[in-house]
Amino acid sequence: MLTPKSNIGKIKTANEDLEGLIVIGSILCQRCGSRRRERVCPKCGYDACLIRISVDGNYVRIYHDKSGRSLAFTDAFQSLANINAEMNAKSFDVKNWLQPEIREQKFANKYLAWLKQKKIEVDKGRFSVQTYKLYEK
Ligand SMILES: [Zn+2]
Repeated sequence: MLTPKSNIGKIKTANEDLEGLIVIGSILCQRCGSRRRERVCPKCGYDACLIRISVDGNYVRIYHDKSGRSLAFTDAFQSLANINAEMNAKSFDVKNWLQPEIREQKFANKYLAWLKQKKIEVDKGRFSVQTYKLYEK
């Protein structure tokens, strides 16, 4: 006899727990930019997602988890919950979430990686020193 705690029940509960953690940020479709609440985009049928968060008044888009893996919906959901937890703990550093992407692109296209790096440096310039110090603590 199966207990009421089937796998489906567990996953649903886990997602509900995660949803409670997500205060900041959105999960968007990587292809059409629609807000995503399901595994496959209802508008364009694409599976990969991106996370959009506001850091110090600037939107930052995250395409990979910390290990450099492209974000499927469940990964994006989990990663955004992790980001929110890090923000609560004041340990969030956007660099930790952007580095895997840079590493990956260095292999794929050195010129694109260079451009991206320049863009990140410009974005970094917009951070106030106080905010960085806050994240580092
Ligand atoms: Zn889409």
